[in-house]
Amino acid sequence: MDPNEFKDFSKEMTDFIVQYLENIRERRVLPIVQPGYMKPLVPDEAPQYPEAWQNIMNDIERVIMPGVTHWHSPKFHAYFPTGQSYPAIVADMLSGAIACIGFTWIASPACTELEVIMLDWLGKMIELPKEFLACGDGNGGGVIQGTASEATLVALLGAKVKKIKQIKELHSEWTDNEIVGKLVAYGSLQAHSSVERAGLLGGIQFRLLETDGKHRLRGETFATAIRVDKEQGLIPFYVVVTLGTTSSCTFDRLDEIGPICNSEKIWLHVDAAYAGSAFICPEFRYLMNGIERADSFNFNPHKWMLVNFDCSPLWLKEPTYIINAFNVDPLYLKHDLQGCVPDYRHWQIPLGRRFRALKLWFVLRLYGIENLQKYIRIHVALAHEFEEMVLSDPRFEIVEEVILGLVCFRLKGTNELNEALLKRINGAGNIHLVPSKIQSNFFLRLAICSRFTESKDIEYSWKEIKLRAEELLDGQSL
Ligand code: PLP
Repeated sequence: MDPNEFKDFSKEMTDFIVQYLENIRERRVLPIVQPGYMKPLVPDEAPQYPEAWQNIMNDIERVIMPGVTHWHSPKFHAYFPTGQSYPAIVADMLSGAIACIGFTWIASPACTELEVIMLDWLGKMIELPKEFLACGDGNGGGVIQGTASEATLVALLGAKVKKIKQIKELHSEWTDNEIVGKLVAYGSLQAHSSVERAGLLGGIQFRLLETDGKHRLRGETFATAIRVDKEQGLIPFYVVVTLGTTSSCTFDRLDEIGPICNSEKIWLHVDAAYAGSAFICPEFRYLMNGIERADSFNFNPHKWMLVNFDCSPLWLKEPTYIINAFNVDPLYLKHDLQGCVPDYRHWQIPLGRRFRALKLWFVLRLYGIENLQKYIRIHVALAHEFEEMVLSDPRFEIVEEVILGLVCFRLKGTNELNEALLKRINGAGNIHLVPSKIQSNFFLRLAICSRFTESKDIEYSWKEIKLRAEELLDGQSL
């Protein structure tokens, strides 16, 4: 492809993207294809000779779009949002063009330097304590991980190294394996599955603790679990507190758990994957009360802050433990400034890393804090609009307090009734929801996901839900 063709191709792609996104509401949110649908649409082998780029443009609607779930449609209410915006798309273009691999500072200084600065900007936007920031007085700093799952694992591995070191100072005769066999980590039963998985990947025991009536992990439960484990000779070393659980967006009691962690020398990791973006608004910062006690904090601007996947900043008060946990130092990666500048290869699991800070830079500058706050507030207000609609219909109930952009609701009645309702809704394919279950209670989740969502879309979704409920209830009474 020569440069002029690139210009034509990218211009046409830009037109396509704008047309796709600005009209996304008109598309059926869920595809109706069957597994293997694509095989007959594409050749069995790669072309021997180059094709015209126009052929690829033509194939987007023919091959790709029939199998796309439109995550940015206002009719998409499943999971949690995933971020997307024009500034972030353009930044990804530039990142693709520079295509550096910023594993060390020297490998592409701008890649590391912009990331350090962006994580300070972002940290200040949510009022993270200064100890987490590179511009603070201590050793703190942030790094962009690919996902919250990686952040939880990286923090766990750092905590593991830290605890092994502490224990060895007391029991120099104990081997690493002996110590690791005694380590135990904690989270709540409502923590994301990636939290339990971090325990499996990290090779340590993980306890998922009971929550209170509002599905929050409480200090007392945590303290009891630690006491019982210590009595058995185990070594508590790591806990994940979730701010904004995946099932129902509840908030563990960070303010109660933090002091216990500090007095018991347990690494406190805060997973605010979804909810963290809301902390750019002062009125939601009460939800992170107690953050000063944490050792590490993570959230995903790629969920709710208009940044395209992947962008999951992790801040650490003491990154040294993570750096030491992963430090292998071959000659070909060494450089003269080592030790004076961050080398992010030590802060993450892979070696290679893209120039992801560009997405943050573009989004923060082109929206400004003011518009990002507006965006969060609109989503929260839309969630409350939907909550009001549910409350106005006596056949339905709300099952969790609506705090941010997620509404958990169900038809009054059995789980089977609600399972059937969800099947009808997704079967019709006009809107898309996913369920969850807490204890034995099955419910539907409606997340406000799209940056295009307006009140009229919420009204549409509610009408669709009511229609499917009526079909179901009428069928039952026949
Ligand atoms: N933690 C919470 C609370 C989540 O809601 C999610 C995903 O929704 C995750 C972690 C995992 O996020 P990621 O896909 O970035 O690993």
